[in-house]
Amino acid sequence: MVSDIQANLFEKLRAKLPAALVVQDEQVLADNSRDFGQLSEDPIPPLAVVFPESVEQVQHVMKVATELRIPVISRGAGTGVSGGIHVRGVAVVLNLSHMNRIIEIRPEDEVAVVEPGVINHELNSAVEEYGLMYAPDPASYKMSTLGGNIATNAGGLRCAKYGVTRDSVLSLDVVLSDGRLIRVGKNTFKGVAGYDLTALFTGSEGTLGVVVRAVVRLRYLPVDERDISLLFPTLEEAVHGVQLIARARIQPAILELIDHATLTILDEQYSTSYSLSGGAMVLARLDGYGAIREEEAIRKVFVNRDVEMSAGGAIEATQLIEMRRTSRGDTKDDAYRTGEDVAIPKSRMVEYVRRLQLIANAERVDMRMISHVGDGNLHPTFSVTPGDGDEPLVRLRRAVESSVRIAIELGGTITGEHGVGLIKKDWLPWEQSEEVMNLQRSIKNLLDPLNILNPGKAI
Ligand SMILES: Cc1cc2nc3c(=O)[nH]c(=O)nc-3n(C[C@H](O)[C@H](O)[C@H](O)COP(=O)(O)OP(=O)(O)OC[C@H]3O[C@@H](n4cnc5c(N)ncnc54)[C@H](O)[C@@H]3O)c2cc1C
Repeated sequence: MVSDIQANLFEKLRAKLPAALVVQDEQVLADNSRDFGQLSEDPIPPLAVVFPESVEQVQHVMKVATELRIPVISRGAGTGVSGGIHVRGVAVVLNLSHMNRIIEIRPEDEVAVVEPGVINHELNSAVEEYGLMYAPDPASYKMSTLGGNIATNAGGLRCAKYGVTRDSVLSLDVVLSDGRLIRVGKNTFKGVAGYDLTALFTGSEGTLGVVVRAVVRLRYLPVDERDISLLFPTLEEAVHGVQLIARARIQPAILELIDHATLTILDEQYSTSYSLSGGAMVLARLDGYGAIREEEAIRKVFVNRDVEMSAGGAIEATQLIEMRRTSRGDTKDDAYRTGEDVAIPKSRMVEYVRRLQLIANAERVDMRMISHVGDGNLHPTFSVTPGDGDEPLVRLRRAVESSVRIAIELGGTITGEHGVGLIKKDWLPWEQSEEVMNLQRSIKNLLDPLNILNPGKAI
């Protein structure tokens, strides 16, 4: 049965696509069947992986998929951590990595026009010569694609000051489930004509359409950057320190938290010795013309407190920020380790961290934390040792679920930046009302009546 579908699919796809772009190689199928998210069920190899090189080819794939009622999973670089591209049934993977041209840079307008497969870092390298940058910088910025960043509304380090991906997306070209191509949004920073469909597609995790082109806003590359590390005796004091920086109305571009356990891991990964001093660390990058003044202001906040600050211009803080910028402080989650991604109102962060520690103690699990703390986006990671005591995986699960429930109780959300994907779907009703869930299902049904765009994910 599947082979009949497959034969028919291939025939129709190859009618308009070069054979080399429709791949059936077993290894390629396996490599394209999952992301970095850890799920207990193994993925199923897709029927095929298609590597389109043009918008017309994407349209053709969607027309064929509609005709044959075959699900399509859009894929960027596969760095997602929510199981958003996990293949669970009959499906074609649309791998957009070959559509990786920067179509245009308009320095005077401070925008760039890109294809979805452009790697985040490559856009930044290309616009640097104009004194510009593309601000949203997930820690996967050297691997992840702009299409994937848009589809997950990715956050990142600089988002503390410059906002998340949605704040930098002006216009999108989207191929709909039946192959129609639409353009939504505008080329300008301002514009309020009609509903904001650009915002709707941003963060829709491949369930409403395929992003094939984007106009993104660029920001000015800061003339100056000052990095400072602040070592606090405890995790709670470090989080409180972040609140003090905010109360002093200082706006770092980057404000990251690294607890002691994560510093130890980074030391192992990079052969450094930052963990030796103990405590939890906050890293701040001040940027722009006022960078030095802001650095001085931060030093003033902590001058009479039990905080060890790096010397002005010392390399240590910059080095740590770079280590953090390319790492989650971990490789992958696995059966015995789960990284979370909640966001909490800033005023409740100390209470949250305190309660997390209580949960970890009660469930006898280890906890560590690396976080975009400047915008309240906390990534606690819980782990247990296989064979350690009774039911380690049950305790791990309970700890993770409690951490998410408490985040909601404190006015937060189940996912700050990674998306719902598959992994967080069961938790969505904890946060959203049935009415809101139904409204989202109606939107999905309107745009994808046959439910062939990444079915079963996100909502
Ligand atoms: C080391 C590491 C660090 C990370 N740090 C961060 C971080 O700081 N902030 C953060 O937000 N995330 C982070 N992530 C998660 C991940 O990198 C982001 O979610 C990223 O945006 C995914 O991009 P991708 O190209 O890999 O997309 P994929 O993983 O391939 O896809 C992600 C989702 O987008 C959809 N999609 C992809 N391309 C398109 C398209 N063109 N049209 C429609 N839908 C599409 C997919 O169907 C899927 O639902 C990190 C991951 C790792 C491994």
